Amino acid sequence: MENQVNQSPAIPRWSALLIEAVTKPGLIMKAYSAFHQFSVGNQILALVQCQMRGGLQPGPINTFPKWKELGRFVKRGERALTLCMPITCKRRDEISDEEHTYTSFVYKARWFVLSQTDGQELEPITIPEWDADRAIAALNIERVPFDHPDGNVQGFARGRQLAINPVAQLSQKTFFHECAHILLHTSEGDFADGEATPRSLREVEAEAVALLCCESLGLEGAEYARGYIQHWLGRGNGSNSEAIPEKSAQRIFRAADQIIRAGRFEIDPVTA
Ligand SMILES: [Zn+2]
Repeated sequence: MENQVNQSPAIPRWSALLIEAVTKPGLIMKAYSAFHQFSVGNQILALVQCQMRGGLQPGPINTFPKWKELGRFVKRGERALTLCMPITCKRRDEISDEEHTYTSFVYKARWFVLSQTDGQELEPITIPEWDADRAIAALNIERVPFDHPDGNVQGFARGRQLAINPVAQLSQKTFFHECAHILLHTSEGDFADGEATPRSLREVEAEAVALLCCESLGLEGAEYARGYIQHWLGRGNGSNSEAIPEKSAQRIFRAADQIIRAGRFEIDPVTA
């Protein structure tokens, strides 16, 4: 979600969307149940837009031509929802004259939820199952035995390895927290996490990834993670939307998305 361009002022920033998700228990799960095929950031973005439009019912979401293919049509006067999409761009290197491709992100208003359409009944949608072992295999992460000398440590992340204390209080939340450290931080050193998460930006990032994963998948630990992040947001000058930097919010959404997609039992169609 870097290098964003064409962002309309009506579209909330990722940090604002993250704070919305943190402060409204249930929102992440609602977004996941309605929009699981999209990225975690886009799920929250879609849900918030449904709410801003005076309560559009969240549900399956498609582009105009895709709805047509499914035997439905967009009702007259309905405005499209905006999502953030990756696009591949090309750039010619001035010195070597080689062509490089890179990914950029643009906001496009081209999606409609089910309730904005009419026509043929849809097949019921099932949410695919998720499995932790499948996720770490796909992410090239190795689970190793817990050998930390300090029994208060709940889990640790080292390079591409993680371990969870067999008596950890919230082992699923700790699992996501350590996965996040591996995806975001272990290139800078090891992380061992005690019972109380210390206050630092990296810990907020890991804990926010854990919150997004736990609540999306209905696993234990969301409440603790939410409490920790709210505590973080509550400090300082009270200007909440500045408390989690935009860059961190992007990293958080991306890592949570990687972990959730990696553990799912389905080949996702290419979606934003
Ligand atoms: Zn940590």
